[in-house]
Amino acid sequence: MLKDCNISEINRNLLSRTVTLAGWVDRRRDHGHLIFIDLRDRSGVVQLAFNPEVAAGTHETANSLRNEYIIQVTGVVSRRPAGTENPKLLTGDFEIAVNRLTILSAAKTPPFYINEEAEVDENVRLRYRYLDLRRSRMRHNLMLRHQVIRYIRNHLEERDFIDVETPILIKSTPEGARDYLVPSRVYPGKFYALPQSPQQMKQLLMVAGVERYYQIAKCFRDEDTRADRQPEFTQLDLEMSFIDEEDILRLMEELFTGLVETLKPDFRLVKPFARLTFTEAMERFGSDKPDLRYGLEIKDVSSILAGSEFGVFSSAIYAGGRVRGIAVPGCGGYSRRELNELNDIARSIGAGGVVTVSLDSSPATIEEIEMQDVHSIAAKYLNIEQVKAIAKKLDARPGDLILLAAGKDSLTSAVLDKLRREMALRLQLADSKMFHFCYVTGFPLFYRDEANSRWDSVHHPFTSPCEEDKHRIESEPDKVTSRAYDLVLNGFEIAGGSIRIHEPDLQRKVFRLLAYTDEQIEERFGHMMEAFSYGAPPHGGIAAGIDRLVMLLAGESSIREVIPFPKNQNAQDLTFGAPDYVSAEQLDELHICINSENKLKGK
Ligand code: ASP
Repeated sequence: MLKDCNISEINRNLLSRTVTLAGWVDRRRDHGHLIFIDLRDRSGVVQLAFNPEVAAGTHETANSLRNEYIIQVTGVVSRRPAGTENPKLLTGDFEIAVNRLTILSAAKTPPFYINEEAEVDENVRLRYRYLDLRRSRMRHNLMLRHQVIRYIRNHLEERDFIDVETPILIKSTPEGARDYLVPSRVYPGKFYALPQSPQQMKQLLMVAGVERYYQIAKCFRDEDTRADRQPEFTQLDLEMSFIDEEDILRLMEELFTGLVETLKPDFRLVKPFARLTFTEAMERFGSDKPDLRYGLEIKDVSSILAGSEFGVFSSAIYAGGRVRGIAVPGCGGYSRRELNELNDIARSIGAGGVVTVSLDSSPATIEEIEMQDVHSIAAKYLNIEQVKAIAKKLDARPGDLILLAAGKDSLTSAVLDKLRREMALRLQLADSKMFHFCYVTGFPLFYRDEANSRWDSVHHPFTSPCEEDKHRIESEPDKVTSRAYDLVLNGFEIAGGSIRIHEPDLQRKVFRLLAYTDEQIEERFGHMMEAFSYGAPPHGGIAAGIDRLVMLLAGESSIREVIPFPKNQNAQDLTFGAPDYVSAEQLDELHICINSENKLKGK
């Protein structure tokens, strides 16, 4: 090799020894006739000292070095003079007294500093991703991602799982998103689809007798990109035969507990993982992916307000809705402007607004509160007993702000979930070093897609109904509970899966409810139905989003920070410049004709 060791290996055992190192010039400092260079490789940074009295020619070459030049140096490992040590560096007690220097590669001035964590425009970072990845934060994220995947692989392989590759060019799979399509050259007019997940393949592997499958799988979904979405992303995908829900939940709990405790020992992990049913999660947090690191629980106060003359409450209750609320500690003194901001948040998701009730902080207890301490547009319709009852129900204290939403459950849930997250952010209630996992179970199997007047799957069509509800599929589809489960971490859904249908007749019944004709079932899922007719074991599985998991472990707020080469927010790869036009010849070969002008390369 062009080097004897990694920089992080420089330690006192090497004192007075001659070593050859190679790496990047991190920065240069000229001190009179001495030149100091911080040399960086993947493992760390060490100081090089160039002294004209030791090696005159080398010192001269060192003068020409610029940041990011790649060099090879040979020199003696020495102790830094007392008082010049750098405790921030692992190698901070040492320096290399260089006597030979070779420039391996010159470098242009990079478009941003590699040796600083300064804010840089994301599109510039993505255009020069190979430079961005040289920066220490990104190097750390890349390494963490590698460690996470390695941990997962070891954990599962110790438990008899085998890694099976599944194809990328397949037929469309119904995960609810738009497919990426790949035109076939050999079959004009036909297309492959990129897998939205290996769902059907892993189920076929169970039919094949694999019993325990896993894969770190790439999935492709053509959706609008958001902070935690990418057109292509990575899942830990797994499937098991002869199991029920508890086996999967236990496996994942052990996996994630071990992973967090090993890779992030300084995090506070709540054990055992919390468990909520879907109904409970919606009732208490207004969301099926609640952040449990803080309280601000939602409570129903409709019964206290029944008969209220305040139109917002009475009309909601009259229409079969409810009034629900949360109490936010210490925000009773919020200004008009701050209260308006909260109203705007409620309006942004389609509510008429949120009713705010501000409580003065002067009374010692809620019992002592009087109407003059209560500020709200609803105040004149409330009596003090109602205020006290609401405050008690919500665990509010003097000085708190009560937020009430009225209407049907789907609306009040959405509003209060949003406000709950907003207030937690403002009050910094969520500890970023805390990992609060939570399983959510008991989801409905179907939901009514009102826009298209049809039933759709909440999870995907291969999810099994629970045993007691099988007979309701045709008669009361809305009452069927599924055998699906989600794993939620700090307000993010990080895994989802289910026990699958393994009986062809039941699968057919579900497809029919989803309004597939028998011809469509045959055309789209004939391969699954046929496979299942040859004997399918009871099976189930789960898939976990690796990008999101690593994002949370790294303390980042976007998955782009933990994906080596992500697309930007407009689904573009700025390093390669994809997507791009292609040549007329390529299109011809693929039997594709573009129907708008200027769509060929070079035109
Ligand atoms: N294929 C599902 C998904 O990608 C996960 C599963 O059911 O295992 O969401």
